[in-house]
Amino acid sequence: MGAHQLLGRGRSGRGRRTAAVAVADRGRAGRRTGMTAAVLGPLGVDVERGPAVLAAIDSGPSLAAHRRWHGEPGRPQLTPLLADLERVGLRGRGGAGFPFGRKLEAAAEASGRPSVVVNLSEGEPASAKDAALARTAPHLVLDGAVTAARVLGSREVHLVVPGADLQVRASIETAVRERRDERIRFDMHRADEAFVAGQAAAVIELMAGRPNRPVTTWQPAAVRGHRGRPTLLSNGETFAQLALLVLHGVDAYLAHGTPGEPGTALLTVHDDLGCRVVEAEFGTKWEAVLASDDVDRPVLLGGYHGTWADAGELRDLTVSRTGLADVGLTLGAGVVLVPDGCPLTFAASVTSYLADESAGRCGPCFNGLPALAEALHRVTTGIGGRGETERLCRMVERRGACAHPDGTARMVRSALTRFPAEVDRHARGGCSYRAGGGG
Ligand code: SF4
Repeated sequence: MGAHQLLGRGRSGRGRRTAAVAVADRGRAGRRTGMTAAVLGPLGVDVERGPAVLAAIDSGPSLAAHRRWHGEPGRPQLTPLLADLERVGLRGRGGAGFPFGRKLEAAAEASGRPSVVVNLSEGEPASAKDAALARTAPHLVLDGAVTAARVLGSREVHLVVPGADLQVRASIETAVRERRDERIRFDMHRADEAFVAGQAAAVIELMAGRPNRPVTTWQPAAVRGHRGRPTLLSNGETFAQLALLVLHGVDAYLAHGTPGEPGTALLTVHDDLGCRVVEAEFGTKWEAVLASDDVDRPVLLGGYHGTWADAGELRDLTVSRTGLADVGLTLGAGVVLVPDGCPLTFAASVTSYLADESAGRCGPCFNGLPALAEALHRVTTGIGGRGETERLCRMVERRGACAHPDGTARMVRSALTRFPAEVDRHARGGCSYRAGGGG
């Protein structure tokens, strides 16, 4: 049984221990057959052909191949496009799930010449969907960005790529070169390799030539962002979804998913089949997404700022933002982690990593998250800490300039409330996931 390191990617934060969390990479023996896959990245992430966004990956990433499959985008006007976005209910795919049409409308109504920013930086190391898009379907992302720019009367598209991922950068640079005849200026920005570097405010800072870290903002980027101008900033998948809508129309978009949640979502899944980027229609049962039997294991949904599903809880649930929200779970940016071991220990390691990733600007975050990590570590080692963990969650929430402390506290609290029996077992010195570890 092998294991790969997901956290830190070699970073050491401020000198604290960088958590090293092993996520299941239990061989590829269970791989589904009949699926084509492109392999990318040093971790060997597989990208599986999907029903819509990832439908054409077998044809290659070139502009010619893209046009053969998807055709040419039209020149939609703002009002009908907003109506189409409302009909399909497109929400941002970066985690917050904000309605994309409202963001587009806000940017259109704000004063100043708007900018469009495609955020491909994926600060969360467990997420690989935008990297997958950049490698396999870059022109879908660029079609969406160019469409948005034209609708807003802008000729400026900014592409924020992970600075350390040379393959993503090379793929985007190649795609941009193929579009040199378009009257759009593409500017590339290289994001830091840091968990909080992908937040909208941090990206705006990067574009201004300042440290790529979050700052307090009083207005959304759509109203006042890059150079104080309205800025339509969203992640790669959101622009790819917009492109699908424009290229193929509302009816084709509505053909996937459910009436309440049309379309598909990209998921980065770490389970018994390894690490994969898959495209799932909303309404797909989790059993069909996860490796067999992994649905009966604890699953961290939504990434390191996400929420825990107890073993078996996903058996009756589907890929659905609203359905998950109804039971206190979140899809976030689509990261799905099945730890190869104790979920409490995993949560403690993630918390330690997240503490290292504080940008160090806000006291409750800089000092509170390491204390929270320490308290949760004590819970996992059976030397108390539960009350202190809950107290520290309350102490750090809503006390930072960005959502980093809130997201960390959400994940920690979710672990405590989803696994109370495991917390008790650890308090007695046991662990269900250790051989003979009843405690
Ligand atoms: S809350 Fe934390 S990560 Fe966010 S800006 Fe403040 S110190 Fe930085």
